[in-house]
Amino acid sequence: MSRKPIIAANWKMNIGPAEGAAFIESFKNIVKGQDIACDTVIVPPFTTIPSVLNALGGCDCIGIGAQNVSEYDNGAYTGEISTTMLQELGLKYVVLGHSERRQYFGETDAIINAKIKKTIAAGLTPIFCIGETKDERLGGILEPVLEIQLKGGLKDLTPEQVADVVIAYEPVWAIGTGLTATSKEAQEAHAFIRKVIADVFGAETAEKVRIQYGGSVKPENVVELMAQPDIDGALVGGASLKPESFAALVTSAK
Ligand code: PEP
Repeated sequence: MSRKPIIAANWKMNIGPAEGAAFIESFKNIVKGQDIACDTVIVPPFTTIPSVLNALGGCDCIGIGAQNVSEYDNGAYTGEISTTMLQELGLKYVVLGHSERRQYFGETDAIINAKIKKTIAAGLTPIFCIGETKDERLGGILEPVLEIQLKGGLKDLTPEQVADVVIAYEPVWAIGTGLTATSKEAQEAHAFIRKVIADVFGAETAEKVRIQYGGSVKPENVVELMAQPDIDGALVGGASLKPESFAALVTSAK
């Protein structure tokens, strides 16, 4: 079974509307005529999304996503954005369970599970992040931590739904720190994640589900990481903020 690689740019709270439009123009020029073998995704801040879509001009070469969504439908939830609003913009992806949302905004596995269900119900694809802290890894509890996050986030989903979720393994200690898991460490974690999916949702689902690695991915290390059998792409923060660097990442994915 071959899985199409997927590389996603998580811009976090960077890049406003004007800079976002300029990024897309520049990115399109850099990659023009080049073979891109992966699904390419950009996840801007909410207010940058319309100008990025406008700059894309209907080109479906890049799928656009949101960095969060409400678990509620609509109503008195000040500051929140619903799946219907994302659908209306024509988005394809929603990043959920990012460690920054778990850590700074108190998102639990149960909240993330509710958001994943809403996202799937709206026909959008969750990019579901999991990962351990340095202390958890050093304390020898990497696998239980990943298993709890996985089972919590994917609770009550069907095998078919899980097959379409993109999972992002992001060791917290490697996010934005310049530290990257070695390709061996990353592969071991990815293989474990696939095994848990196989145990809970069946071998066929585990073969289909795409698992990205995230944590200080850059053009210099992406090829070796993605050469690992269970690594199907990358979720990239810092190195996705410049069109040249993000273009180098997506064009190197084979
Ligand atoms: C991320 O934001 O998900 C991420 C992996 O960031 P960085 O690439 O900067 O480590």
